[in-house]
Amino acid sequence: MIELISIGDELLHGATLNTNAQFIAHKLYNAGFEVQRSTTLPDEKQALQAGLKEALSRSKVVVTTGGLGPTLDDATKSIVSQMLGCEPRFNQRYFDHLCQLFGEERSTFRSQSTVPEKAELLYNQLGTAPGLIFADEGLILLPGVPSELEGMWPKAFEFINRRLKDAPRVWHKRITLALIREQKVDPVLRVLKDQFPELGFGIYPAYGYLGVRISGDDLDKIDHAIKKVKDEFSSHLMTDGAFRPEEVLHEFLTQNKQTLAVAESCTGGAIANRITMLPNASNYFLGGVVSYSNAAKSSLLGVSKKTLQTYGAVSSETVQEMLDGVFNQFESDWGIAVTGIAGPSGGTDEKPVGTVWVAIGKRGESPYIGLVPLSRSAWARKTIIRACSNFALAGLWHLIQHNTSPFEAYNDKL
Ligand code: ATP
Repeated sequence: MIELISIGDELLHGATLNTNAQFIAHKLYNAGFEVQRSTTLPDEKQALQAGLKEALSRSKVVVTTGGLGPTLDDATKSIVSQMLGCEPRFNQRYFDHLCQLFGEERSTFRSQSTVPEKAELLYNQLGTAPGLIFADEGLILLPGVPSELEGMWPKAFEFINRRLKDAPRVWHKRITLALIREQKVDPVLRVLKDQFPELGFGIYPAYGYLGVRISGDDLDKIDHAIKKVKDEFSSHLMTDGAFRPEEVLHEFLTQNKQTLAVAESCTGGAIANRITMLPNASNYFLGGVVSYSNAAKSSLLGVSKKTLQTYGAVSSETVQEMLDGVFNQFESDWGIAVTGIAGPSGGTDEKPVGTVWVAIGKRGESPYIGLVPLSRSAWARKTIIRACSNFALAGLWHLIQHNTSPFEAYNDKL
C-alpha cells in the first residue's frame, strides 16, 4: 500500500491547492501503482506524530510533502528523527552543495544540512531543503514547493519502484473522444464491462470531449477492450492518451505546416491563450483578435455596422464576418471566430446567456457556423467560456479530420 501525507496549515485553510498530492498520485498511477490513502495534516507536532505513526504501521511506502523548510512551522524533519530514534548530523557535502548552488553561505544552510543520519538525501537543485528517504521504513520526505519536489521525484520514484518491485500492478490505457456526450459512450462501456468484468472502466467528460479509461492487470485484455471502443467511435476518436483538443491541433498543425488564427468576443482570448500555452505554438499560430466591443469588431475585423445593427453582435451573420476578417487579416489556413453571451447579465428572451455562435473554417471554403451546442444559461461565466473554447478547438479538429460539420457531429449523436 502507498500512502501520501500532505503537510501544511495552508492546505487545510484552503490557501494553497494541494497540487503535490495530484502530481505524485498521477505519476504513480501511470506507472501501475495505486495510492490507497492520501491525507492532509496540519503543521502541528502531535497530529503529525500520530498521522505518521499510523501511516507507517499500515503502508509499505509513505510519501510526505511539506514542512521540511527552516521556518518555525516546519517540523517534519525533527518529528521523524525523534520517532525513528535517529540522531540529526551535520552533512558537510550537502552544505557545500547549497553554498555552490546559491553562490554564498546563508544562515539557514547549516540547519538544512543537519539531517537524520540514516536517511538517504535527495539533493534539492532549486531550494534548500533536501528530500529524505528512510529505506527501512519506506518513508520518503519531500519539500512542499512543487518545483523542488518535482525535481527530486525521479529519485524518489526509483526507490518506490525498487521497494514495490513484487507488488501487483494495475495498468491503464486512455483514449480521448471529441464532440460526443458521455450518455452515448456509457452503454458501450457497460457491454464491455459484462464481457470483461475483471477490467475497470471510467469516463471523464470535459465539455465537448471526454476521456475513456480502461484498467486492469492484463494488458492484452485492456488493448482488446480499447480497440472495441475505438472501433465503435472511430469518427470521434481524437487521440490515444489523455490530451486536450489544443494539444492535438498543435501536433497536427505543426506536422502539416498549416496555420491558424482566431477572433474572439465572449471567450476574451481564452482560445488564443490555450494555444499559446503550448511551446512552439509560433510554428502555426499567427494571432488572435479579441474584438469585445462592436467598434472593435468593425475596426479590427471589418464586420459591417449594418450587420451589427440588423442582426446584433451575437448572430451567425456577425460571426461569419468575424471569420472573414480573420482570413483577411492573417491569411491563415484555418480560422475560428466566437461571439456570444457568457453572462451572468446581458441575456434576453431571444438570446439567453449561453447563446454563443462559432464559425470554424478553412480559408477559401464555406465555413461551418452554428450555436455552440453545449453552453447553458445556468452555467457560470467561466464554465461557458471553457465549454465554448473546448467546442471551438475540438470542432476545428473534427473539421480538419473529417471535413464535415462539427455541429452535426455533436448533435447527431444524442
Ligand atoms: P522549503 O524549505 O523549500 O520552503 P518546505 O518543505 O518547508 O520547503 P512548506 O514550507 O511546507 O515546504 O511549503 C513551501 C511552499 O510550497 C508554500 O508556498 C506552500 O504553500 C507550497 N506547498 C506546500 N505543500 C504543497 C502542496 N501539497 N501542494 C502545492 N503547494 C504546496
